[in-house]
Amino acid sequence: MPISETSKAAPDANVSIAPMAIPGLIDPVPVARDITARADGRIDLLGLPRLTIADMFAEAGLDAKAAKLRAKQVYHWLYHRGVTSFDAMTDIAKTMRPWLAERYVIGRPEIVVSQHSEDGTRKWLLRTDDGHEFEMVFIPDEARGTLCVSSQVGCTLNCRFCHTGTMRLVRNLTPGEIVGQVMLARDALGEWPKAGQPDLAELTDELVDDDGGYSPDGRLLTNIVMMGMGEPLYNFDNVRDALRLVMDGAGLALSKRRITLSTSGVVPMMARAGAEIGVNLAVSLHAVSKEVRDEIVPINRKYGIDELLAACAAYPGASNARRITFEYVMLKDKNDSDADARELIRLIKHYRLPAKVNLIPFNPWPGAAYECSAPDRIRRFSEIVFEAGISAPIRTPRGRDIDAACGQLKTAATKMTRAELDRLADEKQAALG
Ligand code: SAH
Ligand code: SF4
Repeated sequence: MPISETSKAAPDANVSIAPMAIPGLIDPVPVARDITARADGRIDLLGLPRLTIADMFAEAGLDAKAAKLRAKQVYHWLYHRGVTSFDAMTDIAKTMRPWLAERYVIGRPEIVVSQHSEDGTRKWLLRTDDGHEFEMVFIPDEARGTLCVSSQVGCTLNCRFCHTGTMRLVRNLTPGEIVGQVMLARDALGEWPKAGQPDLAELTDELVDDDGGYSPDGRLLTNIVMMGMGEPLYNFDNVRDALRLVMDGAGLALSKRRITLSTSGVVPMMARAGAEIGVNLAVSLHAVSKEVRDEIVPINRKYGIDELLAACAAYPGASNARRITFEYVMLKDKNDSDADARELIRLIKHYRLPAKVNLIPFNPWPGAAYECSAPDRIRRFSEIVFEAGISAPIRTPRGRDIDAACGQLKTAATKMTRAELDRLADEKQAALG
């Protein structure tokens, strides 16, 4: 339901969190992260951390001890068990449940379209409360099931091969809208723990940082990649807060080793991402010369390849066991020569990066200025990198029958002409300065 100005409850000074300004580029329409009531006056708990929930319960009249206990219980049911009704919270007294239901709800992003590909890939077009659409994709294979999560509606950047880059940035997604994607996927896959399964929440309040937790066992959804719509490091606070709920052993309990954050190269935020989130890092490199990267990944004009690779070398936790992934989209006659492959090797070795390279066949879309490299070219590129001792698998395109590539489902609804795309590119580049 849309939130109208008049229906907003007065923001609470204790729990309001200022929106983060986006450095340098076009700022999105700021969305205050105040905790506001819905039109019916109730507050959505999705995306709130335990301490905030406890503060809210205390504000609403519980004494400090009761607020803390109830918050712990509600947090457990909310993120660990995935319930959306207070009636399902069986360890909370029956008399207490109406008190909660009168004041709070547990929401989910709304599903606009849900598609299932022949190869098992699933894709959802989702909608925020205020009517903005964004995407989520689930990609199962033999070894794992990966959920591709969006961080923004649209993107401020304008990578020339990316469909999301053709959209204006509408706004950052909130922590609730980000963690809500993972929760919706668990709903859809039927993967919330059942009563009687071991309960990690009883054992630890720590972040889960290895695979010793119980989350991956027997589940389809084992991994998360922040590779949907948007640039996660331009929505740092919300992405961090959402991923903390995902990694919390008392929350969704997914190991940080199973989560990857992909950035186009927002260099000033990379150290903070390592320190405050600590998940695996993927970097959308896509080119090895200034000239080509400036063209296809325009943020390169602001933070160049050397700066970017130096930030990768300093990324905490990167090691041979936890390598940095370099994403490299294969564009015909643009970045796919033998010389490009050799320069890629040189750069990785020069910066002594524990790296692997993901070669991504370009997924074409109407109006795109590039073509995908021929299969033989991609294979040769991969071999050259492999021969230098760097893993360089070719990613198989998935879910092509349902347009499962970044930004394509949403954009299918809003087709732009080439002239409109160029105009938008000019606007975004002007903002890059
Ligand atoms: N903004 C972040 C994360 C989202 S994009 C980033 O740029 O890293 C996730 C990945 O999909 C990026 O590596 C991006 O370059 C790639 N990608 C986008 N459009 C693509 C297309 N049409 N074909 C192949 N890969 C694409
Ligand atoms: Fe934005 Fe990433 Fe697409 Fe570039 S590749 S436009 S950073 S979503």
